[in-house]
Amino acid sequence: MSSNKIAILGAGTSGLALAIRLAVKGHVVTLYTHTPDKQHIIPELTGKGYRFDTMAMPFIMPLLVVDLLYLTNKNTLDYFSYKRLKSTGRYIYPDGTLVKGTNNPRLFSVELTRKLDIHPQKVWNHLQLSSLLYELIKPLALENSLHSKGAFMKPLAIKNLTQLLKIGINQPYATFNHKHLQNARATQLFNHFASFLGVNPYKANTLAHFIPHFARFRGTYFPTGGIKSINETLLRLAQEEKNIEIVYQKAEQIVCENKLVKGVDIGGQLTPYDTVVSNLNLDYTYQNLLPNTIEKPQQTNLSKPLVFYWGIKTKHRALGLHNIFFSDNDAAEYQHYSNEAAQTVYSDPTIYLYISAKEQASDAPKGCENWRVMVRVPYHFNEEDLKAVQAVKRVILNKLNKVLQINLQKQISLEVIGKSPSNGLHKGYGTLYQSNWKGATTNNFRASNFHPHIKGLYFCGESYQPGGGMPFNLWSAKIVEGLI
Ligand SMILES: Cc1cc2nc3c(=O)[nH]c(=O)nc-3n(C[C@H](O)[C@H](O)[C@H](O)COP(=O)(O)OP(=O)(O)OC[C@H]3O[C@@H](n4cnc5c(N)ncnc54)[C@H](O)[C@@H]3O)c2cc1C
Repeated sequence: MSSNKIAILGAGTSGLALAIRLAVKGHVVTLYTHTPDKQHIIPELTGKGYRFDTMAMPFIMPLLVVDLLYLTNKNTLDYFSYKRLKSTGRYIYPDGTLVKGTNNPRLFSVELTRKLDIHPQKVWNHLQLSSLLYELIKPLALENSLHSKGAFMKPLAIKNLTQLLKIGINQPYATFNHKHLQNARATQLFNHFASFLGVNPYKANTLAHFIPHFARFRGTYFPTGGIKSINETLLRLAQEEKNIEIVYQKAEQIVCENKLVKGVDIGGQLTPYDTVVSNLNLDYTYQNLLPNTIEKPQQTNLSKPLVFYWGIKTKHRALGLHNIFFSDNDAAEYQHYSNEAAQTVYSDPTIYLYISAKEQASDAPKGCENWRVMVRVPYHFNEEDLKAVQAVKRVILNKLNKVLQINLQKQISLEVIGKSPSNGLHKGYGTLYQSNWKGATTNNFRASNFHPHIKGLYFCGESYQPGGGMPFNLWSAKIVEGLI
């Protein structure tokens, strides 16, 4: 292997992970980040005794982080630790029905039977199918590029694909769930797993069904220090690698000539590189860094998250670390966001409430909780329009007051609105969207991790294969490492 001079644009989770992987292989990597300093790379927010993770999710697959510690020969416990959670999440329906998610698939099946009136064997079978799907999908789309030439021609790929088609993955995930579960509420719960990949379960096929395998069989975890400690650990590793230089400067353009990458424009000057990787959103990359490229993949943005950080003066025993408040009708909610003219939040939205203080008491003052409340809003929603933001807040308060039988407004002692996970540059980009290249819709998996026509140009992170947020951005770093 010859060593390359590589530029990675963006120090998100994915960019950091990729820098470490490539440096270990002997490449010389420069990591450019628009953030003014290292503190801004850490996705966290603090104030009035509260600490909030600005990136939140049930943390699955911790080994993707541990892998990087092994690669760099570090003693894991000196850098990163985490605990396995007993409860994986609380699913709360509009009438107050509460389903407790557990890491034990048998107990989970029984819980669904008790609360949703479904036969436990149906749930158990559905979870088994999820494990099978994971084994089949992993070599096809999680560890390798789906878009590579001949990706589907290898014997293993043909075998796995044939089996996946037999299982019926080429139908919308919601249809698949309904067919197997025959229970509207259980279907809604499983549909929700599609949001991990940022896809619409009524449009995207059944590939997302590998997610429950992780959430139920492999378990969900909480990192010591909170979710932010993932990026913190990666940053520390990157800083300690001699082959990585972190430059706190914005990348202006990716310079290409004759279908070949030449380098990056930094502050008006061309810095030459053999290889450039963008860890920036697809739309942002093509509009700002590759303005002269003729062929552009199209990203159909459907919705984006709006986040409220609330310091809450009370403790709520009914709630846990991860809480999903389901909408009255998830099909109608997805339909609402599929309409490009939509301007407002859906009337009874799905709400994701993350309270890290449930696992880490120091994240909130005594007797208080730190609520990170996230809803989807239309892609064209204007977060700068305070009236529109207040309208969304009212919808959230009404819903939570009704379901929890409280007066939430009176309990809020601190409010911060909508800081995106990194430094805010990506604010406004969607996380639920589709992308396509020349009309070939990748409704299920996102855009390619390499440019099909420009040699030396790669992509990692949330917009690209294999999908949305954590930990898929760590997986995309692994895919790009394999391509370079
Ligand atoms: C409001 C909001 C809330 C979200 N909440 C969640 C969540 O709770 N859970 C979840 O899993 N996902 C969430 N996401 C998705 C989230 O974006 C990803 O999970 C994660 O941050 C993506 O990591 P990444 O490595 O792809 O890129 P990012 O974290 O987006 O990192 C990109 C980096 O590039 C830098 N940058 C941008 N432009 C330039 C430039 N021109 N030159 C150099 N550097 C540049 C940025 O400053 C940033 O540091 C959310 C997204 C938004 C917008």
